[in-house]
Amino acid sequence: MRRPGDGQSFAAGVRQELVRVPMGKPCCMLSEISALTQTSGHLGLRGGGRMSVSYRLEDAGVARRLFQLLKKRLGVNPTLHFTQTPQLGGRRVCVLTLSGEDAQTLLGALHMTETDEEGQTHLKRTAPRHPMTRQCCRRAFLRGAFLGAGTVTNPEKGYHFEWKAEDEHLCRQLLKLLEKCDLPAHSYLRKGSQVVYLKGAQQIADALALMGAGQSVLEMENIRIRKQLRAAAVRAANCDEHNGERMLDAGQKQAEAIRQIMLKEGLYTLPKGLRELGRLRLENPDLSLKELGEMLDPPVGKSGVNHRMRRLMEIAAKMEEKPETAE
Ligand SMILES: [Zn+2]
Repeated sequence: MRRPGDGQSFAAGVRQELVRVPMGKPCCMLSEISALTQTSGHLGLRGGGRMSVSYRLEDAGVARRLFQLLKKRLGVNPTLHFTQTPQLGGRRVCVLTLSGEDAQTLLGALHMTETDEEGQTHLKRTAPRHPMTRQCCRRAFLRGAFLGAGTVTNPEKGYHFEWKAEDEHLCRQLLKLLEKCDLPAHSYLRKGSQVVYLKGAQQIADALALMGAGQSVLEMENIRIRKQLRAAAVRAANCDEHNGERMLDAGQKQAEAIRQIMLKEGLYTLPKGLRELGRLRLENPDLSLKELGEMLDPPVGKSGVNHRMRRLMEIAAKMEEKPETAE
């Protein structure tokens, strides 16, 4: 299992977990194949009605899973090769190809072909028409679509989960499925593709759980808690710092005013209570008024100290108003 900070993206971790989910019942396997065909499959038509289907997958784990699904559910044997495309920044892409009878088996299972009276098979539609009335199949479909065209933002940075749907049909199908799973999703057009997306931590956690990525849900929850704790700590620190600065600021201003009184008139001109507080403030510009009050003998409460300090400030202000007498 991945650890925080091991360099792997959260989305890659989710994929890693999903490719290990048990393949399930035959109905679910076909649903997942259908989703992967719609998101990553390309239909090839050659002369004489020969058909082929190839899948381009960037993630080797996803390619391995699809290979096993096709083999186990349909008994077909895809060929596998790797290619490097400049479009994907020279990244290695796995290509799985089904041709001949194997391609017909797949297209037949996905209700994309029909056979005429003479036993000839024709293509009926270009997208799988696979009914998904059971919840188990819906989950498998969402998983397959995520493996083929999904991504999720690292929860440290934000909450966004999406499936890219190159055609309108897939977009509608995903929205309908999500609605049936009580996950209202939205879609928008980006660079010619529909994007079906979920927002909000709870919805994303629900979608991950639906697809079978329980470990990722836990990790997301941990990140969420860590984030909350960190935010609370930052808030507390800011608060202290802010108050501290304000306190220091005020204390220094008071000390400066008292220094002016001392220079111009002398502290001895002040009543005893004010004089003592003035001295303490001069010596301790960084302490709070409450703390100064506790240092007085006898101690004075906060409101009493406040009152005395206000009087000291008034005296200093009046002194400033008095014009300097020229010698
Ligand atoms: Zn099923």
